[in-house]
Amino acid sequence: MERLIREKDWSKTSVGNPVGWPQSLRTALSIVLSSKFPGFIFWGKDHLCFYNDAYRPSLGNEGKHPNILGQMGKDAWPEIWDIIYPLINQVFITGLSTWSEDQLIPIYRNGKIEDVYWTFSYSPIFDESDSIAGVLTTCVETTKDVYARRQLERANKQYYENIMQAPVAMCIFKGRDYIVEIANEMMLELWGKNASEVLNKPIFEGLPEAKDQGLEDLMNQVFTTGIKFEAFERPVLLPRNGVLETFYLNFVYQPVKDEEGKVISIFAMATDLTPQVLSKQKIIESEDRLKIVIDASRLGVWEYDVKEKKGIFSDRYAQIFGFENRDKLDSTKIIKLLHPDEEAIRSAANNKVIETGYLNYETKIFWEDGSIHWIEANGKLFYDEDNNPAKMIGTIKDITNEKKYEKDLVEREEKFRLLANEMPQFVWIGNTKGILTYFNKSVYKYTGLDESILENNGWAEIVHPDDREINFKLWKDAVKTGNDFLCEHRFVRKDGQYRWQLSRAKPFKDDQGNIKMWVGTSTDIHDIKELDQQKDFFISMASHELKTPITSVKGYVQLLSNKYKNSNDAFLNNALNILNKQVVTLTTLVSDLLDVSKINMGSLLLRKTKFAINDLVEDVIEEIQHINQKHQIIFCKEANSKVFADRENIAQVLVNFLTNAVKYSPGSLNVEVKSSVINNRVRISVKDKGIGLKEEDRKKVFERFYRVEGKNEKTFPGFGIGLFIASEIIRKHNGKIWVDSKIGEGSTFYFELPIEA
Ligand code: ADP
Repeated sequence: MERLIREKDWSKTSVGNPVGWPQSLRTALSIVLSSKFPGFIFWGKDHLCFYNDAYRPSLGNEGKHPNILGQMGKDAWPEIWDIIYPLINQVFITGLSTWSEDQLIPIYRNGKIEDVYWTFSYSPIFDESDSIAGVLTTCVETTKDVYARRQLERANKQYYENIMQAPVAMCIFKGRDYIVEIANEMMLELWGKNASEVLNKPIFEGLPEAKDQGLEDLMNQVFTTGIKFEAFERPVLLPRNGVLETFYLNFVYQPVKDEEGKVISIFAMATDLTPQVLSKQKIIESEDRLKIVIDASRLGVWEYDVKEKKGIFSDRYAQIFGFENRDKLDSTKIIKLLHPDEEAIRSAANNKVIETGYLNYETKIFWEDGSIHWIEANGKLFYDEDNNPAKMIGTIKDITNEKKYEKDLVEREEKFRLLANEMPQFVWIGNTKGILTYFNKSVYKYTGLDESILENNGWAEIVHPDDREINFKLWKDAVKTGNDFLCEHRFVRKDGQYRWQLSRAKPFKDDQGNIKMWVGTSTDIHDIKELDQQKDFFISMASHELKTPITSVKGYVQLLSNKYKNSNDAFLNNALNILNKQVVTLTTLVSDLLDVSKINMGSLLLRKTKFAINDLVEDVIEEIQHINQKHQIIFCKEANSKVFADRENIAQVLVNFLTNAVKYSPGSLNVEVKSSVINNRVRISVKDKGIGLKEEDRKKVFERFYRVEGKNEKTFPGFGIGLFIASEIIRKHNGKIWVDSKIGEGSTFYFELPIEA
């Protein structure tokens, strides 16, 4: 620059030739030109421009250099003159220096206007007369510094922004108090806090819930050692809606150091793995549960690699094969331990696997001690990506006990069949629906038929046509109600003869009381039945034959009674009285016996007429009262309806009720008769306060020849046929007969008849 100044023609400038330059200019120039610091001088009123070598680079290439040397300021710096002129002028006026730092002063250089930053000072240059002649500019271009700083700032900003927008929870804890300098949205969310609660505060103040979970110690450790800390699936309690919840976090504490390597803050990054950890825990739990179930079910578990031809077996598996545990099990032995008896079954099952993907078979196995056991094997085949069989997983179960039980059952059933088959009686089994599924040999032997009678209720064919209806009804009722089945019916023998059978069946129930099956027997009662009929015939004949002499005896007794009714002979009177009474008893007895035989032979005929029931009751009461003076018979009439019935027969029923009431209540003297109407039926009841009946006797007293057993009853004469006849009579009238009684307290006998409309 010194050379350029010297060579320049200054004559045309306001300072003129250098020989005439004032000393002040010379001095200023010599200082500036020798300085290694960039310097620029605006001289005089025209602000003529001088600069040194150090200033030169700031002018760039293809710019102002060297043209501006000696130019007027306003010509040299037209692009910035409005910025710098006020500063220069200020120095000229005030004589005070200026200071500007990193000021943007774009200048023309390198062929264009460039943004250039400067730190510069303008200071006055005084001439010999102490007035200001020029301005010295000392300056440094700071463009690079400014850019570098800006970049740093931008980087910092970017850094923070990165944290703020990161898709993972991030934050920075500053200093030993771990003040939350920055925390992104995800971190705040994780903490369960909003920004104002935690930002610029020590973390354990803003998030006191995180205290005492060992996190502070970890941070202290990172701060002192400068070594980062990483946690995996660490449970941390964090607040959610006022309650602490457990979260499983992966997190890093990364120390942030200054230039000297001192830790100044901790950068933290966290990921919430709670859902994954929980589902993993669930899987583990369910695996555990499965394991417990497998253990409890005592199943042996196996896995077989089809390609490698290798198996893995559980301890229980080994135990089922008689080994202590799986380590003791030699898988090559297993095949040898399978019993050859089921070879075919096993290979069929194996073939089926290819078809269905499932394995299932039962087989006998040997243990090494020679004992035989049963197992059930189950498995499922799994395929690889190419759909080739890859492995099989399955279980085995020790079913030795079940097999033994099954065998016992079969043996027991065989025994039962053997027994049943050899029985002379007919034995049969029905299912819950009442369909017969089994007959013993005797049935086939008797009927001469084969097992086809079991099909489609074919057995009905062997029942006498007259007995079928009642047979079906009773069987259906039994199956429906679960009550025992009882029926007398005739079965046809292979020679065509029908023989009477008494059939009984009982339901067999399981522990819950559900019917499992019916077991029945039929016993041949034909001969007994015939004897019975003969007996009935005999009774009928005998009572018929007895009737005539008794009637004549009765007539003569009555004649005698009439003849001697005014006699004073006490003996005669008494004898006649007794005779009369006994003849009445004998007459009833004989007519009862006759009735029984009539009933048995089905020849009890009804001569129905229409009559008022109360009239009949009154007549009968009078008759009975006449013979039994001791007892007081009271009649309580509630209704007097008409019935259409056999008057004689109904009178007989009532006579039987009343004589029984008197007979079986020797201790109490009141008998109460009541007539009422219930549901369109006439009901007559006879109540005594006598010896009463036990529950088990109440139904049976209506059976033929049934008399209650007991020391009391012996003292009462009777045949046990009165109530049988009564019930038959009522049955024939479509009525109902029954008794209410309590032992020792008395009985009430009832019958009901339909009202004649
Ligand atoms: P019987 O001629 O033996 O009285 P019934 O057929 O009339 O025959 O009665 C059958 C049985 O019923 C009797 O033997 C007796 O044990 C019992 N019985 C009948 N009526 C009564 C009654 N009112 N009180 C107690 N037991 C009675």
